[in-house]
Amino acid sequence: MAVPKHKVSKSRRNMRRSHHALKANAYAECSNCGELKRPHHVCGDCGHYDAREVLAPEPVV
Ligand SMILES: [Zn+2]
Repeated sequence: MAVPKHKVSKSRRNMRRSHHALKANAYAECSNCGELKRPHHVCGDCGHYDAREVLAPEPVV
C-alpha cells in the first residue's frame, strides 16, 4: 500500500480543503409559468422548455 512520505501540515490540508465548500443550487424562473426551475431542465410544474416545448405536464390530482 502506498504510504505518504511526509505529514501534511495543517496549512496544506486547509489549502486543499479551501475548494470543498458547497454552493447553492442555481435556479431560474420558468419563462412560461414563472415557477422556479433548474436551468437547462424542463419545468417540473408546466412541462415547458425554452418557452415552447410541452413535455407531459403532470395532471394535478
Ligand atoms: Zn413552467
